[in-house]
Amino acid sequence: MTVALLPPQELDLDQQFTELAARYVAPRAAQAYEAEILDRLAWRRLAQHGLWRIGVPVELGGTGGTWKDLATAIAGIARGSDDLGFTLSLIAHAGLVRAIAVHGTAWHHDHVLPPLLRGAIGATALTETHGGSDVARTRTQARMCEDGWLLRGAKDHITNAPVADRALILARVPDLGRRDITLFLVNLRSPGVRRGAPEQLLGLRTSPTGALHFDDAFLPREAVLGTPGEGLATLYDVISFDRALYGLVAAAYLEPRLDEIVRFTQKREAFGASILDHQYVQGRITDIRITIEVARAVSLSGIDALVDRDAEASLRCSVAKLVGSEGLVEAAQNLMRLRGHIGYMRGHISQDMQDALGTLIAGGTTEMQRKNILNQMLATRSEV
Ligand SMILES: Cc1cc2nc3c(=O)[nH]c(=O)nc-3n(C[C@H](O)[C@H](O)[C@H](O)COP(=O)(O)OP(=O)(O)OC[C@H]3O[C@@H](n4cnc5c(N)ncnc54)[C@H](O)[C@@H]3O)c2cc1C
Repeated sequence: MTVALLPPQELDLDQQFTELAARYVAPRAAQAYEAEILDRLAWRRLAQHGLWRIGVPVELGGTGGTWKDLATAIAGIARGSDDLGFTLSLIAHAGLVRAIAVHGTAWHHDHVLPPLLRGAIGATALTETHGGSDVARTRTQARMCEDGWLLRGAKDHITNAPVADRALILARVPDLGRRDITLFLVNLRSPGVRRGAPEQLLGLRTSPTGALHFDDAFLPREAVLGTPGEGLATLYDVISFDRALYGLVAAAYLEPRLDEIVRFTQKREAFGASILDHQYVQGRITDIRITIEVARAVSLSGIDALVDRDAEASLRCSVAKLVGSEGLVEAAQNLMRLRGHIGYMRGHISQDMQDALGTLIAGGTTEMQRKNILNQMLATRSEV
């Protein structure tokens, strides 16, 4: 049974990256999970196949196309990889690539973007030990020095931090006064940057998270992304793409699982019939299908709004993140329940549940998506 019905122009990238992920990521996913590592070889292979050049304008070294094309390719990887953690690491990197392509200067395009298109690993670091939801409370500071900036502070729980080469960092510039939040692009291989040990998570073990410490790390003057002091406005655009990707990835990841559970419930028998004949079972299965359809639709609508610079983009991307992560958790629970005892045994079904739970927190919690949705609604109304 094929669940995905995509418009013809999106079919190629989707299928191409589903197949690449099935070839390079899926066969090594269980081993990577056991070892709790990001599969760098698979990462490099996908980069070699041009994943990160999709959506990036040709003059910046990309293959052109749109950010929706990149999202479609990442959804293909979610479907074919059998590895949600790996896909979430891709999302973190995708946000950085788009941030540089859209908001970067010629210097960023020449010096920061090329390695990220070729296979280097990126991260976006907002959260600090004292809290992640209220990003404006960041304590990391950058001070101007003769040739650039000195960055001091620490970030916590950052996807890809243990292995990343470059990161987008949110920091304050106290010299700017009240509006001081600024984004910086940091080479994580520079002196003054330290990494914490990989964190031990409940799931998503193929997506390493950890801390980054900056001990007066020197950044060149050009390291600022966007306008100094206007970092929050740029950040909201950057994280909106990540949020929309969560919904799309949730939908794609669930598709093969839906096929599998339909086959399972057809074969499994209770009360003299296959369990698929029982309406309560059918309800759980149709709920998964509904999640797939809704998460995909709202995510694509969020990405369209971002590409069109629509005022509702941030709102719709928050809806996509919320629907995707909540739907994924509910679906993972349904997939587990439908298998009865064997669903609760250690293995890929219970692993799905553990992985899915992480998506409720990564990328901003459901409460924060709701808060953003309301704020955006009120802002749009006040503009009328
Ligand atoms: C797998 C994973 C990957 C991650 N990757 C990254 C990354 O790449 N980069 C990064 O910067 N961070 C990352 N994080 C961190 C994540 O963004 C934060 O954990 C998240 O934003 C929540 O912050 P917190 O954990 O500090 O919780 P807190 O902000 O302390 O919040 C605790 C609870 O209070 C609730 N809450 C807070 N304020 C309100 C409010 N006003 N109204 C209602 N409820 C509220 C929250 O929703 C939450 O339930 C990752 C987290 C996980 C689990």
